[in-house]
Amino acid sequence: LGQSQGQGQSNCIRVVCRFRPLTESEQKRNEHSIIQFIDNQSFIVKQRESQQQYSFDRTFNSYEDQSVIFQDVAIPIVQVICIDFLDGYNGTILAYGQTASGKTYTIYGEPSGDDDSQSKNGLIPRVIEEIFTGIAKMRQKNNALAFVLKMSCVELYMEKINDLYNVNGTNLHIREHPEKGIYVEGVNETVIQCPEDAFEFLNTTNNNRAVAATKMSQASSRSHSILMIELSQQNLLDLSSKKSKLFLVDLAGSERASKTGAEGERMAEAKTINQSLSTLGTVINSLTHANKTHVPYRNSKLTRVLQESLGGNSKTTLIIACSPSNYNESETVSTIQFGLRAK
Ligand code: ADP
Ligand code: MG
Repeated sequence: LGQSQGQGQSNCIRVVCRFRPLTESEQKRNEHSIIQFIDNQSFIVKQRESQQQYSFDRTFNSYEDQSVIFQDVAIPIVQVICIDFLDGYNGTILAYGQTASGKTYTIYGEPSGDDDSQSKNGLIPRVIEEIFTGIAKMRQKNNALAFVLKMSCVELYMEKINDLYNVNGTNLHIREHPEKGIYVEGVNETVIQCPEDAFEFLNTTNNNRAVAATKMSQASSRSHSILMIELSQQNLLDLSSKKSKLFLVDLAGSERASKTGAEGERMAEAKTINQSLSTLGTVINSLTHANKTHVPYRNSKLTRVLQESLGGNSKTTLIIACSPSNYNESETVSTIQFGLRAK
């Protein structure tokens, strides 16, 4: 059992850091990188007055491509589902960082453009392929196993949960059930039978996210988006069954309200985002330290939804996404601080 923990870590929270390259517009504005990469874990931030070295379980420099991220971050998580799945592990992958730091690029990815290489695929499409490969292997070994894979996707905006697949599902509530556990009441759950079904589901939710954002003149960066993949397995001979959940979370931008000069509605948004992100930080922090008696899951809907997949037997990977630009120095440093607190 212990071997599935990987990396010899005593807790199940892994914090990795990814720097995107300087964007074209940053280069045009003559911004420069203030990051000096040292090795797979460490880097130096060259601040105006001082320089400081930081280190994470893994640091991805600006040149490492999507496939590297996948191997390092996702495979241990996917193994939880596909191999250690019988042990009943849940998992969560979260991307944290200021707007435009590369969260969506990491979690979802982008179309590859001209070629069809899928080289810009993010974690989600790669995780999906891996899950189906894993299911096929398990079926080969034991044909009495039946699997049901379901996906649902919600956005959390101003502490309201909205279904991103079924647009009529707004302001949904979180419930707790002795057998079902914690769940979002009334959320659409789509049965996924092959990777194509999953990609179709994702297309729909991506379109709905864009439409919803326009309607409310709300950038998608001000909501958390949560994709849930649930795998149920039944042994048809002895009727034993198992269930596991994997959450992939593209968090709202972590930038401070003061910097963006927010007022009114924007200020209210910024406050709720800060509140839920700081609760997330506190929850992760209390999970990694000895006193786990009171973990304040209930202080935000984000942590409440994720509760069963944060802590306990579950595997959590926090990806800290950063810009390397001198312009973003203070946001980058505060993002790093958030990551360090989670370790
Ligand atoms: P966020 O979701 O944090 O707001 P995005 O994922 O949308 O940020 O990334 C912002 C911009 O940076 C996008 O244009 C994206 O294509 C680019 N980008 C982000 N990460 C990388 C990366 N690792 N390599 C190349 N381009 C990236
Ligand atoms: Mg984004």
